[in-house]
Amino acid sequence: MKYHKVWSKSRRELFLACPRWWVIRYGINQGNWDQSTSKKWYSMNDIRSYWDLMLRSSKQTIFERLEDLQMNVEWSQLFTERRIRENLTNKLSRQQKIMSIHEIVGTKEAIDNNLELNNIDIEYLIKNAIKRINALWKTDFIQALTNRYHKQWMVFERTEYGSVNGIDMYCCPDIAVKIQNHWHLIRIDMQGSKDSCFEELEAMAMVSWIRGKNNLPILANKFIIRIIAWRNGFWNQQRFSANENKLIQSNYLIDSDIKQMQMMLSKLGDHHSMSQIPLANKSSTCRKCALRESCPGGTNLDAGTSQQSALELAEFIQAR
Ligand code: SF4
Repeated sequence: MKYHKVWSKSRRELFLACPRWWVIRYGINQGNWDQSTSKKWYSMNDIRSYWDLMLRSSKQTIFERLEDLQMNVEWSQLFTERRIRENLTNKLSRQQKIMSIHEIVGTKEAIDNNLELNNIDIEYLIKNAIKRINALWKTDFIQALTNRYHKQWMVFERTEYGSVNGIDMYCCPDIAVKIQNHWHLIRIDMQGSKDSCFEELEAMAMVSWIRGKNNLPILANKFIIRIIAWRNGFWNQQRFSANENKLIQSNYLIDSDIKQMQMMLSKLGDHHSMSQIPLANKSSTCRKCALRESCPGGTNLDAGTSQQSALELAEFIQAR
């Protein structure tokens, strides 16, 4: 099966965390693979935990608030709370509709059990979302925008993509701001993962994506990247300067990811067997996955990994 070349940080993270989950989310819907099992997996995998929906609603609310700020409309605390509640409720009810289909086909209970969907208090989620948004609005960076210190800035939708070196990249910044002679590209990470040694090279993809667009400069050293990530109850900020050399290294990283993703899909073989697709590295990944019911590692990752190795060996011997 051929992998249509698509790269984003979240695809890379999922690929590294669990190749099987990545194959089901991003691989099998691309090819002409119409088996009913794969369709069921694909639809199950798109169910998000309530926590994930809270993070997505928070991000959506932040975008809406920033877009209004660009039009000189400022939100009150009450209005912010109302919007976060509305955005979360909409996402929950949309997911509820999908869940009712799973109820008909008999997979709802498995998803409920996997994600413990019914055990989270919505008010607790809303409180968490408000805490994040309020804290973000107090950061120096957002304060500078609300106080109109910067004249030129724009907000991007994360779903925008651009083609770079033949690869479709979903990696636009959330905000771009001109400060003196540089453009600062800002990514707001609602749930910052642990520091990774690839953080800087992954972030450079934003420069590859944006340079030359919307009258922005082409030279890499005209950009500075700022990652604002929620970690341990606070917004942490990281800052990287871009240059051509870092961009070349970032492109190598992305090319190598694409090659590995293509190799992974080729392991499905003509029979689209998942037996050679590795499972998650850590059981904590499985706790966020709606596919546990259908996965050999879903209840016991170690046992599932051994079972997978035995299957892989059997297929190898059969093929000889
Ligand atoms: S249950 Fe775990 S191993 Fe299986 S697909 Fe989900 S994350 Fe991967």
